[in-house]
Amino acid sequence: MSTDSDRNPIDNGSFWFDSLDELQCEEPGPLPTDVDIAIVGAGFTGMWTAYYLNRSNPNLDIAVFESNTIGFGASGRNGGWCMGWSQDLTDRLSDPNTQSEGMAIARAMEDTVDEIGRVCQAENIDCHFAKGGTLTIATRPFDVEDYKADIEHYYRLGFTEDDFVWLDEDASRQRLNMTPNHGAIYTPHCAAIHPARLVRGLGEVLRSKGIKIYEQTPVIEITPSKLVTLRGEVKAGKILRATEGYTDSIKGQERKLIPLYSMMVATEPLPDTIWEEIGLRKRETFGDERRNVIYGQRTMDDRFAFGGRGGYYFGSKRKAVIPADDPDLDKVEAVLRGLFPMLDGYKITNRWGGLMGVNRHWKPCVSFDKSTGIGAAGGYTGEGVGASNLAARMLADLVLGNDSDITHLAWVNDNAGKWEPEPFRWSGSQLLSWLAEAADNTEMKSGKPSRLWGPIYKKLYHRLI
Ligand SMILES: Cc1cc2nc3c(=O)[nH]c(=O)nc-3n(C[C@H](O)[C@H](O)[C@H](O)COP(=O)(O)OP(=O)(O)OC[C@H]3O[C@@H](n4cnc5c(N)ncnc54)[C@H](O)[C@@H]3O)c2cc1C
Repeated sequence: MSTDSDRNPIDNGSFWFDSLDELQCEEPGPLPTDVDIAIVGAGFTGMWTAYYLNRSNPNLDIAVFESNTIGFGASGRNGGWCMGWSQDLTDRLSDPNTQSEGMAIARAMEDTVDEIGRVCQAENIDCHFAKGGTLTIATRPFDVEDYKADIEHYYRLGFTEDDFVWLDEDASRQRLNMTPNHGAIYTPHCAAIHPARLVRGLGEVLRSKGIKIYEQTPVIEITPSKLVTLRGEVKAGKILRATEGYTDSIKGQERKLIPLYSMMVATEPLPDTIWEEIGLRKRETFGDERRNVIYGQRTMDDRFAFGGRGGYYFGSKRKAVIPADDPDLDKVEAVLRGLFPMLDGYKITNRWGGLMGVNRHWKPCVSFDKSTGIGAAGGYTGEGVGASNLAARMLADLVLGNDSDITHLAWVNDNAGKWEPEPFRWSGSQLLSWLAEAADNTEMKSGKPSRLWGPIYKKLYHRLI
């Protein structure tokens, strides 16, 4: 593990960056005076938006401006779940008034997983894409009835056994031998990927198509038809912001999206004998329904990559990297080792974290204002690996004036209000984190629903931070 003092400033600290053949940042060179379309941020959202704009019209002069290096943000350090689902869907599908818009998004998200697989194949991006589906494990006995009820609810809405199935304890343990495991919901709509290979692979593809990506070029202000960077100004017909959890680095964009942190660890490559015991033979991803989210995948080189919710820092503080000795990482490692005692004696080689963007209404949003030529996409709240592709296709269609099925999805122009000023955000986050931990701990120990902290958490969730 590298220490802070010997860290390469373009290294985001993740296992994914660590495992790249090389980590180089191109000298940005002089800035252009003007472009047709300027994209701010070289994560998935920015890269995919440039990709689809170019695919629709190769004559467009598109440039991407990135404050660090391609994939430095969440896109190059996440859990690598390319999900056919998005953060807003559980809420939309549970409210009769929004179920149909939820279904439309869900179907578009399912297609998105295949779309990403198709582009990777067509463009020779080897991001270790494996569509093994995902398991939501019942880690508490009462999850079993709740999960079965969820599946019945989804079937009533029009999903089928091709979308969700219940696996009883035996079948679930065949897939993933973790303890506790009382059964699982399985959906095939998820692929495990190596996120840094995807985002940087997209960067190479874009450059090969003549799109300029200016790394080491922080943007400090966006105005109609002009971008102000720390290296100078650029005129642009259209400007698209793809900065997610980093958005308040731009003047006037404060409190639009707040940065929430997620933390990850990765083991050394594990021997076949251990994987025979654990499972994940199809590289299924997995999680459960505790409030302090967990997520895991088996990497292509047979490591366990595992993560959990980090938190929020006062004043929306953005940390470029998370030090490997951060105490939140100890918690994530302890959860992993608790669920998989067979990992005893195997080393954790990488510990890192990152931030993701959350809109005030906790839903993704894609917007484009024709009158100013300014657009944006983001707010996937930790579920953006797949969602950023769909959002980018929506944004490209909006910019090009294409009236497509996806430009009618509910994310379009669903602008959220601003977040509360401090100290309200921080106080709310502290309270909710405490409640989540108290309720989760009670339930994991007792195997029964938390009757005190659980309902309070549910009432406040999404109202506070
Ligand atoms: C630890 C972790 C685990 C996660 N796991 C998963 C997962 O398994 N599945 C899933 O679906 N989602 C996951 N997510 C969320 C997912 O990674 C994000 O939703 C997604 O990557 C967002 O992509 P983006 O391009 O919008 O933002 P980012 O990838 O954050 O990209 C924004 C880019 O903009 C640049 N930038 C910011 N400000 C400026 C500026 N002023 N000027 C120029 N450039 C700027 C940044 O340097 C960055 O490169 C996870 C996130 C984290 C942090």
